[in-house]
Parts: sequence; structure tokens; C-alpha cells
Amino acid sequence: MNKRDPLYSLRARAASPTYVTQPYLPPLAEFIPYLEEIWESKVLTNGGSFHQQLEKALCEYLDVDHIALFANGTLALVTALQSLRITGEVITTPYSFVATAHSLLWNGIKPVFVDIDPKTLNLDPERIEAAITPQTTAIMPVHCYGHPCDVDAIQRIADNYNLRVIYDAAHAFGVRNENGSVLRCGDLSVLSFHATKVFNTFEGGAIVCPDAKTKQRIDHLKNFGFVDETTVVATGINGKMSEVNAAFGMLQLRYIDEALTRRKSIDHTYREMLAGIRGIECVKMAGETTANYSYFPILVNGDFPISRDALYASLRESQIYARRYFFPLISEFPMYRGLPSASPANLPVASDVARRVLCLPIYPGLEMDQLNTIVAVIADCAR
Ligand SMILES: *Cc1c(COP(=O)(O)O)cnc(C)c1O
Repeated sequence: MNKRDPLYSLRARAASPTYVTQPYLPPLAEFIPYLEEIWESKVLTNGGSFHQQLEKALCEYLDVDHIALFANGTLALVTALQSLRITGEVITTPYSFVATAHSLLWNGIKPVFVDIDPKTLNLDPERIEAAITPQTTAIMPVHCYGHPCDVDAIQRIADNYNLRVIYDAAHAFGVRNENGSVLRCGDLSVLSFHATKVFNTFEGGAIVCPDAKTKQRIDHLKNFGFVDETTVVATGINGKMSEVNAAFGMLQLRYIDEALTRRKSIDHTYREMLAGIRGIECVKMAGETTANYSYFPILVNGDFPISRDALYASLRESQIYARRYFFPLISEFPMYRGLPSASPANLPVASDVARRVLCLPIYPGLEMDQLNTIVAVIADCAR
């Protein structure tokens, strides 16, 4: 193809794939001074200056009291359970990323899957009580797509049965409800700063906790269990975030509001443009007063002329890589499907939604013409 051809850039664009997400990256030049500071100090990890700065800055931005940074969200989940000495059985959702339940198996805990609410797609509080046994010690709900769980109902059950609540808040960076940050709910909340998340530090994660004593235990657990040079008090892991990741987080924070504004506008545009297409249902917000627009899930209903998988395939033909989050359900993976609670008969809503859901591309750099193409393909399939 001739590069001087006026259609070249258009064709190149049409030929370039659109993924479900693209990480937000500030201008590279702005990161160099941070690296120079690290080179100067020769402190690369172990709770250095950027690590401390980012913990403080995130507490302020997220309006929470204590944060312990981690190398990734999965290690943070594993450590969160250890910090509260959770054992036995934990009630959780099958409709999530596999790391949610994996963190239980890594601790020798038995996951007990409970179905989701058809509106919010979060753990259905009305079904939790029936799953509680004498071995149950905690509930691990997920604020799926950043839409808050019914936190009050979950807390009431936890209080009645003396259970801990650990939120997998990997999708819920910055989300607030009428009581403020949802990250303040339950005993602990776990964040992920993976490249695909709303706020990324390349890889990274954190535990939000309510008091200094819990944070101290978490900080020991993420550093092999060391409490001083010669004393090890627990079988801790190496879960520390490096200075490069923490410095990058400081830079990302300068751009987060801009990134969220852009996501909000894409979310609103999708909702407007998809409203007229029969059989396509946009998943509604779940009462958040500040949303983060981390995903754009749609449900393909029975009155849409083709199946979810056929729509997924049509989008791929146009190089649009939407994703079927969350299909398959966690309960369908081999290490879980033998559990009694994993049977599809126990999880009718989650099983149905997993067959109908499709997450459309949403990220700050998504261009209007890409969005138009996505909606045009869906509209075309609707005819
Ligand atoms: C991304 C994610 C995780 C894992 O986080 P990592 O930082 O990738 O380890 C856990 N739970 C949910 C719901 C996630 O989306």
C-alpha cells in the first residue's frame, strides 16, 4: 500500500485491532525524573520513598485510612486472608476473575459458591445465609465491574453469624456510594493495579484496612514475616511493590481524573447509541455515587437475532476484541467443579449471565470512530 495514498491512514486504522482495554500511559518523558531519583537513591524496593509516598497519596485520593501496597492484586488477596487468619469455608461468587477463588485455595480454604443478583451481578445477599455452615468464617464478595455490592445486607449477615468480610475490590478503584468510599466496607478491601485496570502501576495491588495494627501485620506478611532484622513471626510471602512501580503510580495519579472523565463519556455514549437496539441490555450501575466505568458489559438477550458467541465472532471479524467476562464461571474450572456448591443447578443466574455477557472496549484512548464501528457492527447483527 502506498503511504501517500490519502486512504492509507484510514485503512491502517480499520486494519488495526481494538482490544477490550488498553493501559493508560502518561507521557514517557514525565517518568524519567522519577527514574533518575531512584537511580540517585539506589533504593529499589523494601518500602522506599516512592512506596511511602504512594501509600499516603492513595489514602488521600481514595479517602481511606490505611493502605498496604503489593506487587499484584493476587498476592494482596492471599495475604488479606492470612492477615485475618481465615480458615475453613469462605462464601464467594463464581462470577469473577479466577484469582478471587484461587486466593482461597492458596490458603487451604474451601470456597463455597453462592449465586449472583441478576441486576447487579454481585453476590446475592438473600442466598448467603443458606450457604453458611459451622465451618464458615468469612464472605469474599466482588464489586463486579466496579458496581458496589449490597454492602449493608452483607454486613448484617456477617454481624449475625460473626463472619469476616473481605472484598475483592479489584474493579472498584475510586468507587463511592452514599456513605463514601466502598473500599471502607467490610474488614478489608483488596485492589489490583494490573495493566488492564482503571488505575495501573504495570503490575500492582493493595489492601485497604481500617487500623494501623492490621496494616502492620499485613506489612510483616508481605515481607516474609520479618518484624525486625532477626525476627520472623509468620510464613510471610514476598509481596512488596517495587520503587519503579510505586513511582509510576505517583505519576498515574496525576492523570487519573482525566482518565475517568474520558471513560465516563464513553460509557454515556455507548448507553445512548445502544439504547435503540432490541435485545442488547446495558448492565446498570448499582447505586454508586462516583463510578469508575472500568468495564462496559452488555447482555445479549433472547430477542437479539444471534447468540452472544455469534456477536463476539462478528466483532472479531471487524478486529474488535470484546471479551466474555466472566465466562466460564470460576466454578467451571477443573479445580472447583467437583465442589457441591459449583453445580450449575446451584448457580442458575450466574450460569445464565455467563452465557449472555460481553464486555465492549472501554479505555481513555478509545476514539469516537472506533466506538462508532463497534456500535455499527452490533446494529448490523441486530438486523
Ligand atoms: C484483576 C483481578 C484480580 C487479580 O489482580 P492481579 O493484580 O492481576 O493479580 C483479582 N480479582 C479480580 C476480580 C480481578 O479483576
